[in-house]
Amino acid sequence: MTRLTFLGTGGGRFVTLTQERSTGGIYLEDGYKVHIDPGPGAVHALRRNRIDPTQTNGIMISHCHPDHYANAETLMEGLNTGRLGKRGFLIASHSVTKGRGKVGPAISQYHQEKMEKVITLEPGNRFEIGRLNGTATPAFHSDPDTVGLRIETGDGIISYVADTELRDEVIEAHKGARVLILATTRPLNARIPNHLSTEDAAQMAEAIKPELVFLTHLGKKMLKEGPRKQTRWIQERSGVRTFAAEDDMQVLIRSSIEVISRRRNRRYRIRPFNPQEQENGAEKVEPDIEKT
Ligand SMILES: [Zn+2]
Repeated sequence: MTRLTFLGTGGGRFVTLTQERSTGGIYLEDGYKVHIDPGPGAVHALRRNRIDPTQTNGIMISHCHPDHYANAETLMEGLNTGRLGKRGFLIASHSVTKGRGKVGPAISQYHQEKMEKVITLEPGNRFEIGRLNGTATPAFHSDPDTVGLRIETGDGIISYVADTELRDEVIEAHKGARVLILATTRPLNARIPNHLSTEDAAQMAEAIKPELVFLTHLGKKMLKEGPRKQTRWIQERSGVRTFAAEDDMQVLIRSSIEVISRRRNRRYRIRPFNPQEQENGAEKVEPDIEKT
């Protein structure tokens, strides 16, 4: 089984500042444990979710903006606390590990040298560390080194489309994904350069046809407009089940997929989408999880 935990679902400078949503990134477990884009709030979110950061195998960072990397050095120190020798890996964009012009590096040389392995990603590069395999995908963002991550888990491909504009290359790179996670900063009728909007998310869902789409990295305007309104719009156009990710939401991926909302105290078992159904096209299962 592969497990995803949304440690944070906010994005953009205002939500990062107010922490209306956490910006802790995504935690992926499939035998290995990987923390993706640990922005501000990541350390606290791990504690809230009872995840032990000393057991993390590595950190992945899509680009050099603080809502994606700010807690990374703290976590990298944690990987090596009380241990002899180096441990853990960092897989990140060129801007994060090496810097480019006025941007970055985000991680100091001191912290990079603490890691067993540092891999710098350019779009198209493959990464293989033990069971963690995948490809860096193209992105078109204000940090030109930004990459997306297409991760090949034992339960299918999980694609993380980090901050980017919508381009054909981005769609192509994520075809075959079973679960598609989209950094959808902007709601309907509010597209801005360098970021995905609800319209873009619908276009990607329709072209890629994954089993499930998650919107995350939700910006201020997106939260004001209502993320669930956006998911309904995407579902109607694409026919793909779409969730607005919530902080501390878990996704259990086996032959079937289950989504656990701790905030709503609900569990959703995913089955083929029927637009007539309530609750984002998922079958609601009796709530049987404890409130946290
Ligand atoms: Zn960014």
